[in-house]
Amino acid sequence: MALYENTLKQMNTAATTMGLNPELAEILKTPARIMEVSIPVRMDDGSLRIFTGYRSQHNNYAGPYKGGIRYHQQVDLSEVKALSAWMTMKCSVVAIPMGGGKGGVIVNPKELSAGELERLSRGYGRAIAPIIGAQVDVPAPDVNTDGRIMSWIKDEFEKFVGHPEPGVITGKPISDGGSEGRGTATAQGGIYVLDKMVEDNNLNPAETRVILQGFGNAGHIMAQLMAKKGYLIKGFADSKGGIVAKEGTLDPDKVMEIKKAEGSVINVVGKPGFESVEVVDDKTLLETDCDILVLAALENQITEANAENVKAKFIIELANGPINPAGDEILEKRGILVVPDILANAGGVTVSYFEWYQNVYNEKWTEAQVFEKLIVVMNEAYDRVSGNKTQFKCSMRIAAFITAMQRIQDLWEKKFKV
Ligand code: NAD
Repeated sequence: MALYENTLKQMNTAATTMGLNPELAEILKTPARIMEVSIPVRMDDGSLRIFTGYRSQHNNYAGPYKGGIRYHQQVDLSEVKALSAWMTMKCSVVAIPMGGGKGGVIVNPKELSAGELERLSRGYGRAIAPIIGAQVDVPAPDVNTDGRIMSWIKDEFEKFVGHPEPGVITGKPISDGGSEGRGTATAQGGIYVLDKMVEDNNLNPAETRVILQGFGNAGHIMAQLMAKKGYLIKGFADSKGGIVAKEGTLDPDKVMEIKKAEGSVINVVGKPGFESVEVVDDKTLLETDCDILVLAALENQITEANAENVKAKFIIELANGPINPAGDEILEKRGILVVPDILANAGGVTVSYFEWYQNVYNEKWTEAQVFEKLIVVMNEAYDRVSGNKTQFKCSMRIAAFITAMQRIQDLWEKKFKV
């Protein structure tokens, strides 16, 4: 819900700032099509359980709808609708030929056996098969879904249409048509954007102190890439707590090794090589003195409650929606530059589009080819957003929404204006 309300607010501010055509603004307030499905699943104990799922298709002026499928007990229709609108904006910022979609099933997948999970995923795949397709709507993994689930959905879709169509879904395992580079794409895209920001602001990585919140797929890979570039990595946090190094720089691989063995980044304390490290809580980590803060964990981490205390001068949002609008306003007033999620983490959806492209055109790119193309997309997107920031004298976030809306307005005018 938070992301929904925040998205609408940001879209609205951007529309007003750029003077978006009011008819188009109305169109963008509602998804073009929403499907609610009922999925009967035979459980292991012989009982029948009925699950509810959704697919929201927000806008397809740029190309097939694109967006993840989320399995969570708190999925609801308004969240799925909001996330589909948000995907329209994200795909448009990076100018890939994809629109915005999102799906979800109300379920706690941790309560299901592997067999129940497969039957549920196949059931959901059959239920949405009539409205997806490589040229129609291309789902992908999201919270609690993965490559294996994508393969089950693809299999059901292909039975439905009666021919192979690997481009119907992305985030597949490499062996089933997935793309090289997808696993690290979000952080890699974040690095390209970071490089541009660092260049614009004349920062020297060797003197730039970084703190990262979130040490999963996005945060850990971002830390590895930043460490390779020579940034001073001063702190990390996962869901169990945070660590800050008073001296030197943290080695993300060593921290990960200990986290894997013992459960958390906080377990490095007392280990050889981590003598200057102290444990801090989440709140303290976000308020610790540093130059760049990378948010790679959860929504709503910086709000009106703590934005005044943030010491970083630059923030990169790898997570979706980690700063709420009230927090954003305070950071903006304080002159802290925030590189917004719809730009900073769009490397993920961009490589998803590359996967779709390779499937549709029967190509197979190496990881190097994927990243050669990704850097072009991310650099161009950064430049368009920066240009709009200057032109409209607004935050980078609003500039990113403006960038997205300008493209949608262009497409709308070409398609529909007489
Ligand atoms: P993940 O589950 O791999 O990692 C999440 C990390 O956040 C974990 O280390 C977890 O311990 C940590 N965390 C959870 N609660 C925390 C808390 N209260 N304080 C500090 N850390 C906490 O997830 P991910 O794939 O790395 O995604 C992280 C964020 O990036 C999410 O918002 C996700 O939507 C966004 N994102 C990810 C991708 C991608 O390709 N992975 C793409 C776009 C956006």
